Amino acid sequence: MLSISLRDKLCGVGVNSPWNRGFGGVMQELRGGCHCGNIRVVYKTAMAPEDTQPRACQCAFCRKHNTAAISDPSGDLEITVKDADLLSRYQFGHKAADFLICKTCGVYVAAFMPDPDDEKGYATLMSFALDERARYQQARTASYTGEDESARRQRRRERWTPARLETG
Ligand SMILES: [Zn+2]
Repeated sequence: MLSISLRDKLCGVGVNSPWNRGFGGVMQELRGGCHCGNIRVVYKTAMAPEDTQPRACQCAFCRKHNTAAISDPSGDLEITVKDADLLSRYQFGHKAADFLICKTCGVYVAAFMPDPDDEKGYATLMSFALDERARYQQARTASYTGEDESARRQRRRERWTPARLETG
C-alpha cells in the first residue's frame, strides 16, 4: 500500500503493524453486503481469506442462519446502510449486539455491538456477505454458551473488528 491514512496508523493497522506479520503484510479491502445492495460493507484486513478460519456459532439464531463469522481486531469494517427503514437491528439474549439483517432481501450481514464508552463499535462479519466468499475456508463450530453479558462484551471487544455503522 502506498498510502496509509492517519486513522489507520492510529488504529494499528498500518503496513508496519505487528498484526501484518505472517499475512504477507498486505492490507486488503474486501467488499460485499446484502443481496439487494441496501447494506454495503468495506472490510479492511491483513488476514488473507485463505488463512482465516470462519466461526460457526452454535447459538439458535446462528444455527438457523448457518453463519460463518469473521473478524480482525486489527482490521476495520465500515457498514453503510442506504435506507435505515429497511434495516432490521434484531436483538435477543443479552441484547448486547444488533444483528443486521436486510428487510428487503433477508440477508444477515453482520452483528454490530455499539460501544457505550466510545463512538466506535465492534462487529463480526458473515464471510458469505463478501464478494470474495469463495476464498474462505469452511466454518468451524464455536460455542459461547455460559458467557455472562460482561464476558461476552469483553470477548467481542478483543476479537471483533472495530467498526462503524452509517445509516442513511
Ligand atoms: Zn438487501
